[in-house]
Amino acid sequence: MHEKLSLNIEADKPQDNCAVVGVYSKDANIPGIIVNGLIELNHRGQEGAGIIISDGISFVGKKASGLVEVVFSKRNDDGVIIEDIPQLNGAFTGIGHTRYSTSGTLDELQPFLEDGISVAHNGNLTNIQELKEEFGFPDEIDGARSDTRFALAVIHKMQGSEEEKILAALKKFEGAYSFVFSTKDTLYASRDPHGFRPLVLGKLRNRKGYIVASETSALRRMGAKFEREVKPGETVRINKSGHATIDLDERSDISRCIFELIYLARPDSVVFGVPVMEFRRRIGEGLARHLPENVDIIAPVPDSGRGAWSGVISSEIARESGAMFEEVFYPNKYRNIVSGKLRTFIAPNGRDKAATEKYSVIESNVRGKDIVLVDDSILRGSMARIVRILRAHGARSVHALIAAPPIEHACGYGVDFGTDELVAGKSENRPNNIVDIEKVRIELGLDSLYYISYAELLEAVLGNPVENVPEVFEQNKFCGACFTGRYPVPIDGTVSKIA
Ligand code: SF4
Repeated sequence: MHEKLSLNIEADKPQDNCAVVGVYSKDANIPGIIVNGLIELNHRGQEGAGIIISDGISFVGKKASGLVEVVFSKRNDDGVIIEDIPQLNGAFTGIGHTRYSTSGTLDELQPFLEDGISVAHNGNLTNIQELKEEFGFPDEIDGARSDTRFALAVIHKMQGSEEEKILAALKKFEGAYSFVFSTKDTLYASRDPHGFRPLVLGKLRNRKGYIVASETSALRRMGAKFEREVKPGETVRINKSGHATIDLDERSDISRCIFELIYLARPDSVVFGVPVMEFRRRIGEGLARHLPENVDIIAPVPDSGRGAWSGVISSEIARESGAMFEEVFYPNKYRNIVSGKLRTFIAPNGRDKAATEKYSVIESNVRGKDIVLVDDSILRGSMARIVRILRAHGARSVHALIAAPPIEHACGYGVDFGTDELVAGKSENRPNNIVDIEKVRIELGLDSLYYISYAELLEAVLGNPVENVPEVFEQNKFCGACFTGRYPVPIDGTVSKIA
């Protein structure tokens, strides 16, 4: 009998962080476009989804927990599943959101609406605690405690028109934000001056109008083509006159989240101008230079390791190694379909329980074999469980090539790493405050372990050699604080990462 081990590969991954979309068009199906966009961005948050649309007079919306397709469907009287998307005759603008959270209740679901302004947010405001104190806000508003709900309250403390209030409030926010706002007749898209999170502008193909979305992967199903990125520090107004920049706070310290490229974004997206899959393949080609000798199998950790794995196995080094390029886990795609659709707010607080156990070992690829696993990153203990499972199924040795440097620090800008348990962040693995890779290797039970270096990571983005120093991230307008601890914006004032 094999040791009984649960395999929660997906539970031990960074959790993003939410997605936003917005649409303005006088002749398109606004709610349908928004829901289509959210479905394409569901990888950025599965705990809940919502939309708010407007016809210039009133707002209509819906939000609920669960995957986007579940939120916007229902059973009819015959038991058949049909669409259940809010409609409003003449609606011409609206926004939508998918949510991941580490905590919170249904009251936290976005978009939020107050006095003629609706908002959806991807990121994390780092000074919300100060703003709460400045304005004397209570602990919660309408049951919500998230930075986004308080951001909307801050907007309504400002003076002037709705647009003036939004612009004034944005000047007060610090940290990471890609916002979409909708008033009754205008759509706005804003990105923080550091540009932590992506946000793109698209033009509808067969209709007049524009969309905004967190990633380019949403554009096609929203019926739009890529127009341009919303720039760091930019606010774009979209209305019947088209789109226009109404504010641009240009700074030199751009800090784009490099983890968007490593893991968070979909492989078919182009993020910060970088085609994600191409980047992941280049990372893999770099990892191939560190392949151990005499291995039999080079395998991805599903699914997040597949991008880098494709780069490893396409390299000449891997081809010449004589190893076979095989899977060692079989994912049963029919398991957890129902529970996945029924995921509720239990999930953020009991993630391990809610996580899938849908992977089985392909024993013929494992028994008696020397195996190299390729993964995007290592957070907590799932790699140790994977190694124990492979050894229990007869693996002779298990090695790992990792497409990110060791994650040693929390992210204050909207990504949940579950920092309490970060294997490379534990004090016992960081004597003298420097991670000891050998200690991590031993804890994970691996025969060898290679983490990509800062330089190799940046070279895969930039296509040219760089120095292997922590400063290389800011030198190239990226954030790498979870690796280096060099935070571009102080993170002390966050309330909790729940948007
Ligand atoms: Fe991205 Fe890491 Fe920076 Fe967070 S700390 S924004 S995950 S690079």
